[in-house]
This record gives sequence, structure tokens and C-alpha cells, in this order.
Amino acid sequence: MFRGAKGEPLDQGLALLFPAPASYTGESILELQGHGSPAALRSILSRCVELGARVAEPGEFTKRAFLNGKLDLAQAESVADLIEAATSTAARAAARSLSGDFSRDVQALVEAVTTLRMFTEATLDFPDEDIEFLRATDAVGKLVSIEARLASMLARAKTGVRLSEGLVVVLVGRPNVGKSSLMNRLVNEDAAIVTPVAGTTRDTIERQVEIGGFPLAVVDTAGLRDTDDAVERIGIERTWSAVDRADVVIVIVDARDVTDALPREDSAILARLPESVPRLVVHNKADLAGARSRVEQHDAVMHVWLSALTGEGLALLEREVLALAGIDGAGEDTFIARERHVEALRDAQHHLAQAGAHLRAAAPPLELFAEELRETQAALSRITGAFTADDLLGVIFSRFCIGK
Ligand code: GDP
Repeated sequence: MFRGAKGEPLDQGLALLFPAPASYTGESILELQGHGSPAALRSILSRCVELGARVAEPGEFTKRAFLNGKLDLAQAESVADLIEAATSTAARAAARSLSGDFSRDVQALVEAVTTLRMFTEATLDFPDEDIEFLRATDAVGKLVSIEARLASMLARAKTGVRLSEGLVVVLVGRPNVGKSSLMNRLVNEDAAIVTPVAGTTRDTIERQVEIGGFPLAVVDTAGLRDTDDAVERIGIERTWSAVDRADVVIVIVDARDVTDALPREDSAILARLPESVPRLVVHNKADLAGARSRVEQHDAVMHVWLSALTGEGLALLEREVLALAGIDGAGEDTFIARERHVEALRDAQHHLAQAGAHLRAAAPPLELFAEELRETQAALSRITGAFTADDLLGVIFSRFCIGK
């Protein structure tokens, strides 16, 4: 029985003691379990605070687990990712990272780089034997293999970031081309109002969907046209701000309007998109145009013919959206990752490329080669937190919810 200051009963429950080091944080932990009503739990918590306890900061338990060596940094981050996972695929990938799969791959790469570096440093004392050493240890071959492993890891990490952060897909186009109908098809519900009246969607509408296990935010926008209507104009401005945060923009046109080239208004919309935004063109109402659903590439842009009304061709669109975002599907080796990891891997890749350039020079400067290998290793170690600044830890753990 949990009791208050005057001995009054607060709740009946369970007290579990985890003696150090056999606990999540590695420290001794006492866990109190009550019946779960927020009011009863609050009174137990208040009583604990009266008795000298303090409420944990966000991520404090996981931070302690990291500082006590129970988890490395990539694993600690995946705890938050597991809690926030939006799809079951993302949750599985986070669990994989938590179990250490990602960290082990990083560690194996660090070891390969370190071995190569140690060989190099050992021969620095015998400059005459440089070339012999390089041949004998097949340094180039080893470097090529590390480069390939790093490239594959970077590709998987990018997919992992998409899994945790999701994709923003924005639908734009002239009024009445079928943006709202496509939105409703993609999200499988009547999120947007569909009418034959142009200018019905005056604001952006956002819904979450899952495609191939990836969380997507689909944004339907106000149709783009010249208008004197003040409200509609604000909607159009919002369309352009939605475009600015898009990972993929889908420009919808009416399949019946397109003969050889896109109509002028549609080309103008395409031309106004920021250059860096990946885009594809959907030719909607293929049913009315008598066109079969298909994908074609024109001037490096993919064009998909479909019908938002019948749903024909929708699977083609979903596939193209994922491909455009650089995702080739989540497999059993997908781990959850963050932008921080991708940056570290890119940094490692950069230094490894420099190392390669030194090694392939006519007279390889081995000191510089070794130095670039050291930088590669340092970049990789940032992922698991072997070398991590305190302020980075602050940023990472403040994103956790309280008590985790
Ligand atoms: P929006 O203004 O671009 O959002 O267009 P809506 O989604 O509101 O669609 C405008 C009209 O076109 C509505 O009457 C829809 O039913 C119709 N429509 C949309 N997509 C298709 C389609 O693929 N085939 C056919 N036949 N009609 C469609």
C-alpha cells in the first residue's frame, strides 16, 4: 500500500527493486507501479518528491544509461525513435538499431579503418619501404572495400532517416485537375472536399499515410490560378509555402489537356517550383482521356498516368514517389537513423576519398594518408558517441519525453 504523509492510503501497487548494475541505467532503480489513474499516480509522485525525490528531466534515464555504458549514442537515440515510430516498419527498424545492429556495423567499419591506419603508421618509420608495404598489405584493395561498405551504409542510413522523419508530399496543380480526389485516394478517406467547382480547396489540408511502411504527410493545396478573390489568394500563397517544405511535389494535370506538350499554365507551375525539389507529373483523369495507366520519363521528370476516381495507376504513383525520395523500400536490414548519422557518414566518406587520393598518388604521402584515416575514424565514432561533445548530448536528450 502506498501511503500519504498522514498514513492515508493513496493506492495499492507494486514496488520493484532493480539493484545496480542490473537495471536500464546501470544504477539501482526502484520502480513503483500503481493502478494507472493519473490522479492516483500524481499523488504517489508528489509523496515521493516530498520525501526527497526529484522528477526526471527529458531523456534522463536514457542519458544515464548512455553515460554508464549500457547503450551507445545511436542506441540511445533509437529509444526515442521507437517511442515515436509512426509505422510498424519504422518501429521494427528502431528496435533493430536499439539492439545494436547499426552500432555494430559502424564499429566494424571503425575497426577496418583503424587496422589500415595502424599498418600505415607502423611503416612511417621506414620510409624506404613505403611502396613495398602498400603492395604487401593490399592497402588499395582494403580501402576500396571500406569505401563500398561505407557507401552501402550511407544509403541504408538515408532510408532510415526517411523512416523516422517521414516524407512531405505536396499536391499542386490548376483548379479542378483532381488534387483533392488524389489526396482522398492516397489517404483512403474523405479528407478533402471534392466538387466540380473550381477554387473549392482554399487552404492546405494535411493527412498522414503509410506507403511501403514509410510515414508520409500528404498535403492538398489550393488550386493555382490568377484570381481576385482575397481568400483564394491567401490559399495560393500557402500552396507555395507548402512547396518550400516538400520532399516531393506532385504536379497534377488533366490527362485530356495534354497532347504533345503540357499546357502553358501547367508548364508555368512546373517552372515556378524551386529547382532543388524533386517532382513528378501526374496525368489525372486517365479514364476520361481513354489513356492506360503508365509511367514515362520526359526531360528527366517522371510522368504517371492514372485515375484518382477509379484508383487505377495509384500503385505506380506510390512506387515513383518512394523512388524519387531515394527510397528503395525497407528491408530486414533497415535501421532507423537520423540526419546527424547521415552527416557523420558523409564526413567519413569525404575523408576516405581524400585518403584514397593520397594513396593512389605516384609517391603516396603516407602521413597525410594516415591523417585522413584518423579523420574518417573520428567521423564514424561520432555516431556511436565515442567522441561526443556535451552540447550535442544536451540536444539529443532534450528531445526525449520526460521519464524516458
Ligand atoms: P481539385 O480542384 O484539383 O482538388 O479537383 P477535385 O478533386 O475537386 O476534382 C474536380 C472534379 O474532377 C470532381 O468533379 C471530381 O470528381 C473529378 N475528378 C477528379 N479526378 C478524376 C478522375 O480521375 N476521373 C474522373 N472521371 N473524374 C475525376
